[in-house]
Amino acid sequence: MKLETYRIKRDFKKTTEPKGSPGDNAVSNIFVIQKHHASHLHYDFRLAIGGVLKSWAIPKGPSLSPADKRLAVMVEDHPLAYADFEGVIPEGQYGAGKVEIWDRGTWEPVGDLTTWLEKRKLEFILHGKKLKGAWVLIGLKNDPKNWLLIKRK
Ligand code: MN
Repeated sequence: MKLETYRIKRDFKKTTEPKGSPGDNAVSNIFVIQKHHASHLHYDFRLAIGGVLKSWAIPKGPSLSPADKRLAVMVEDHPLAYADFEGVIPEGQYGAGKVEIWDRGTWEPVGDLTTWLEKRKLEFILHGKKLKGAWVLIGLKNDPKNWLLIKRK
């Protein structure tokens, strides 16, 4: 039922985004960042965790400077197949606009991956083309959806 919210938001007769299938529930260590030219340009950061892509929308995109804290708004889980998606979501559909892969690679958690959501802290290493090295996502207290993405030194 993890992808229910994802599926409810979309009409798969009209969008070419993947519906996702049970076969997607494979173990994966992929990450992807999609530049999304929606009504407001943002960067969708996705980490494969537990057979889905946990997803955050980052209005300003990631920063390579450890001094920057970038707001990352948690959005609905996406299917693993979404990591390959590029294209144009049609006018009138959820997230209408162009989606392009901005970076992609593998990731690895630093430490235990069972309590990050409850502790609202996820430390990880990215092995991408643009993004590499240590990063952290820290949940804010004001809203459970709001996190900060920060580059570690
Ligand atoms: Mn988006």
